[in-house]
Amino acid sequence: MHHEIHILMSKECSKCKKNPSIYLRQYSGEFLCKKCFLRSIEYKAKRTISKYSMIRHGDTIAVAVSGGKDSLVLLNVLRNTLANQGSQLVAITVDEGIKGYRDESLNIVKNFCASIGVENRIMSFSELFGLSMDKAMEVRPSEKISSCSMCGTFRRRALDLLAESCGANVVATGHNLDDYIQTFLINLFAGDVERIGWTYPEPVEYGITDLRKIKPLMEIYEREIVLYAIHTNIPFQSEECPYKDESIRSAFRNHLDNLEKIHPGIKYNAYSSILKIAKKVKAAGSLKDLDLNHGVQQEHRRCIICKRDSSNVICSVCSTLDLLVKET
Ligand code: SF4
Ligand code: ZN
Repeated sequence: MHHEIHILMSKECSKCKKNPSIYLRQYSGEFLCKKCFLRSIEYKAKRTISKYSMIRHGDTIAVAVSGGKDSLVLLNVLRNTLANQGSQLVAITVDEGIKGYRDESLNIVKNFCASIGVENRIMSFSELFGLSMDKAMEVRPSEKISSCSMCGTFRRRALDLLAESCGANVVATGHNLDDYIQTFLINLFAGDVERIGWTYPEPVEYGITDLRKIKPLMEIYEREIVLYAIHTNIPFQSEECPYKDESIRSAFRNHLDNLEKIHPGIKYNAYSSILKIAKKVKAAGSLKDLDLNHGVQQEHRRCIICKRDSSNVICSVCSTLDLLVKET
């Protein structure tokens, strides 16, 4: 470790050729000083945003901020890159109701938003669904539903509702490159080919209010997001959720980290290939849809209970709630 720091400090930045470097970007071989490194992260996010037309003039962007590193970095990067560009930012936060865990992160978010002058709106599972995550964990039939899939189902709906309540037309989340590859592998191993197509970052509007979901950090390594947070003094929650299940995701994460250590850049290569696959799967999927409907775009289906968009008669939120109510 000391050895590595010594080498870094004695090298000058490959970009500005002036300042001492703080980071060796293994996959490109570049030594970067603090200023050039931070700039490179913001530049990458900006490039991703324009490559996939994620943001347009006049958008109101609701940034999903949990208090973890990815979401706080996303908020900071968007604030820096979108200043005076005719779009509005608001931070939206979901309070799942997890005692001892969520309270700390809510404070971090509140303070950070206040310090950079961005409005923060919070909604809780209790007020939206009638029960907190703590309560849901107590009553759930554990053989039928895992903590994180239940929590994720509710959180996605909560974010939509929060965004709508702010009049936002875009929801930005902090998913990074590592997340993207893990999600692909999860879908691949689950045999869920159609879902792979859904991950292609082409902006699609959905739902009653035409929300557009974007992931501006999806081409940035998780490791570099942590580094960005540290060098910009962004305080983030590092404590783990008590309900986190030992998912297949962590197994893939460890495996990919090990591979990257031996073969720097392999994650990025995987990412590029996955994008191409996702694009093809998506294109094939929409052709099939058109075929099945004789060339007519399929009409949106709605959940018969909550009346929101759903691919089934009853949406996943309503069916999960039903499962929980039966147990109480
Ligand atoms: Fe919810 Fe799982 Fe995240 Fe905990 S770790 S907040 S249960 S999704
Ligand atoms: Zn529903």
